[in-house]
Amino acid sequence: MWIGVANGMFTQRSLWDSLRHRAERVPWGKWLWSRDGIPRHEFVSWMLFHCKLPTKDRLARWGMQVGAACVFCSCDESQDHLFFHCVFSAQVWRLMLQRLGVYRGSATWRVERQWYIDNVGGRSLQSRLMQVSFMCTVYVIWKEGNSRVFGGVPVSADVLFHRVVSIVHDRVCSWRG
Ligand SMILES: [Zn+2]
Repeated sequence: MWIGVANGMFTQRSLWDSLRHRAERVPWGKWLWSRDGIPRHEFVSWMLFHCKLPTKDRLARWGMQVGAACVFCSCDESQDHLFFHCVFSAQVWRLMLQRLGVYRGSATWRVERQWYIDNVGGRSLQSRLMQVSFMCTVYVIWKEGNSRVFGGVPVSADVLFHRVVSIVHDRVCSWRG
């Protein structure tokens, strides 16, 4: 998990701007930086797409003395596991996708990434909703993991799902304003 960012928030606006303005010649670049989403959500998703989130397997490779166990369960923590294979995260995804009328389980990040590129890359309202929901789900999972690392009170997958619904609802309402 993210060491040194106790609240999971990203406030380095200059860093964000610099990343956003770096011409993203990748299939997900347009919707990742479309301004439909919330900047800190976009930033964490950018880290995910580029496999740069400091999960425990990565921290261990950097020589840091961290345990290998996923913060949500006892399996080894990797990006694939933390976001998609973990029973906790998979439940959040399942609930979120079902809310949007999509019935599928989560797979490896490589498969997930391709699915989002193939299915939600457009600018229809449904695609934009899916993009923002994806980024929000990534963010709340990452933030919940950080919260637990730093001693926060754990919340259930159902609570996280309803948090995503609330955040996305507020964001979509702001589009109309
Ligand atoms: Zn886990």
